[in-house]
Amino acid sequence: MTVTFDIKPTTNPTPDQERAAKLANPGFGRVFTDHMAVVQYNQEKGWHAARVESRANFPLDPAAAVLHYAQEIFEGLKAYKRDDGGVNLFRPDANAKRFWNSAERMAMAPLPHAVFIEAVEQLVRIDRAWIPGGEGSLYLRPFMIANEVFLGVKPSAEYIFAVIASPVGSYFKGGPAPVSIWVSENYTRAAVGGTGGVKCGGNYAASLRAQAEAIEHGCDQVVFLDAIERRYVEELGGMNVFFVFDDGSLSTPPLGTILPGITRDSIIALARDAGKEVREEAYAIDQWRADAKSGRLKEAFACGTAAVISPIGKVRSASGDVLINGGEAGPVAMGLRKQLVDIQYGRSPDPHQWIRDV
Ligand code: PMP
Repeated sequence: MTVTFDIKPTTNPTPDQERAAKLANPGFGRVFTDHMAVVQYNQEKGWHAARVESRANFPLDPAAAVLHYAQEIFEGLKAYKRDDGGVNLFRPDANAKRFWNSAERMAMAPLPHAVFIEAVEQLVRIDRAWIPGGEGSLYLRPFMIANEVFLGVKPSAEYIFAVIASPVGSYFKGGPAPVSIWVSENYTRAAVGGTGGVKCGGNYAASLRAQAEAIEHGCDQVVFLDAIERRYVEELGGMNVFFVFDDGSLSTPPLGTILPGITRDSIIALARDAGKEVREEAYAIDQWRADAKSGRLKEAFACGTAAVISPIGKVRSASGDVLINGGEAGPVAMGLRKQLVDIQYGRSPDPHQWIRDV
């Protein structure tokens, strides 16, 4: 299926000076570019009305299905400015596939991969001036909402797919700082057969109370345990997790109820390229504590598009604190981080063809 995008540049672009001021200190997720890509779906026309236009509000009927039954999915990926002035997208095909799987799970109209990628690329092209230099990047947020005007629990017959973009600075100023994480014993994130393996907004709404609890306990992030035994480590609110052992091997929780992170998949590949053993296996929280104390566990780190890799320095729960690697960032996490970032910015070869030049 091919969809041709109608490109309608804004007649009211942000003045250069104002854009430069915003790019000087963009923070995360509060500054937006001038345009958005939009594609609509209905049952007669399928995906249609593809366009790139001025970023603006959506007209949304108060009875639009998304506002009541939460049929909403999204993605997150980044465009990076290379030293030669070119622009790299990192594995947009993987995001397109995950978006398709999310749509299927939420009974939404799946979006062809080519349309997803074209929408992202068109937006990056038109808003190229918004990609920060240095260690910054342009965070891209593709999403889909159900907008049939109907009160009733059934799959919507109409959808809007859109992509917006937000310039972001380096996640950590002065290098990645180890994060502290709170083990949620009251709340779980995902059940077998539920939606934990896809990227729907509802998963995040349901995680906010646990994240608030983490902050109340002085931690940066929450880590969820499995919903059956409340024992096995799943993932953080918005990142996957890895463990590094004294024999040089790594492990990460298996797919199923966790989000199949693209960073997770990339780290598994890079570690295996380096000849390291990587196991996708269940790891119990009590084992984590015991291994940290005995020294069998050398490092733990979280990973995701936003921060790439964040070393985990401390694990806190109702039963006390455990330090990992003395609370410091470890060499395996930092080495993998550099390797990945260098590929993303085009500073080193790309053996897996992850980069798409835009
Ligand atoms: N888990 C959750 C719950 C997330 O929201 C994210 C961010 N998309 C991740 C893991 C990491 O996924 P990725 O590496 O694709 O960003």
